[in-house]
Amino acid sequence: MNNFFFNTILLKGSNVSNHIRKNLTLQINELKKTYNITPKLSAILVGDNPASQLYIKSKEKAFKKMDCISETHNLPINTTESNLIELIKGLNNDNSVHGILVQLPLPKSLDSKKILHSISPEKDVDGFHPMNIGYLYQGEPKYVPCTPGGIIEILDFYDIPTERCHAVIVGRSNIVGKPMYGLLAQNLRKGNATVTMCHTGTKDLSYFTKQADLLIIAAGIPEFIKGDMISEGTHIIDVGINRVNDASEKKGYKIVGDVDFFDCFDKSASITPVPGGVGPMTITMLLSNTVTSAKNSI
Ligand code: NDP
Repeated sequence: MNNFFFNTILLKGSNVSNHIRKNLTLQINELKKTYNITPKLSAILVGDNPASQLYIKSKEKAFKKMDCISETHNLPINTTESNLIELIKGLNNDNSVHGILVQLPLPKSLDSKKILHSISPEKDVDGFHPMNIGYLYQGEPKYVPCTPGGIIEILDFYDIPTERCHAVIVGRSNIVGKPMYGLLAQNLRKGNATVTMCHTGTKDLSYFTKQADLLIIAAGIPEFIKGDMISEGTHIIDVGINRVNDASEKKGYKIVGDVDFFDCFDKSASITPVPGGVGPMTITMLLSNTVTSAKNSI
């Protein structure tokens, strides 16, 4: 391990999230006082996937804590595509609803794309609708997908440079890698970087990760990035959330990122911990997008 960087900055998402939520509180109060509007999210959960139930519960909790409304439509696993789309259409036309979220993954019998596309782009607070992705890629983002949006906020809060930097993203999913590329490559706040996107078709991943000034990793592989894959002074954003067995833990497992944290820490200029890095940002950005939608409804 190299000890060149004695002051590696720990990029804690909770600090950024608290800062954003303070600001959101002012906006929510103003919406209520002046316009009698309470930001409201309608979430749809199909089936009883325990992880999805947990995500929905934490979203409900966060909205309640911020004095916003979050309602969940719990639908049985055998819900038909047309029933689900009918429900979404109703929510699209309901003026009291500002954000619509369909919890993924959906059961295999349902066409996720078709369902996500039926959400009105004006209420698409997850930012997954092709129209919102299109706006983002044209350099005029409206609703930015929550995880990449949260990463931009972390970079801004901790003043991590992006302009004239080489940002390397590992992963090209629609929810993380692709929108992240769109944000960093453009001349936007915390953008203007030269961006390389890596995936399973990349030959010699280390060749690219070693060139990164900023490395964003969303591959879903526990502790995949090792110290010998990065250069000294790299800023590292670890998106991964992986559950690995660990008999020494009370629960029998622990959560780790896609980066081998202890192997990379000393070499990095800054790094997000897992848990506690990118994770806390995602729901905060969902709140932020819902408040934006409520403001747009005036
Ligand atoms: P996906 O499985 O949808 O995408 C993974 C991506 O990583 C794919 O593009 C894949 O490439 C690429 N990849 C996989 N293996 C390699 C490899 N060996 N070399 C290079 N690229 C590789 O994952 P998500 O984007 O949905 O999520 C990624 C991680 O982030 C997961 O751990 C997830 O739990 C976490 N996550 C965390 C969030 C948070 O709030 N912090 C929110 C969302 C996700 P290819 O396209 O070629 O298959």
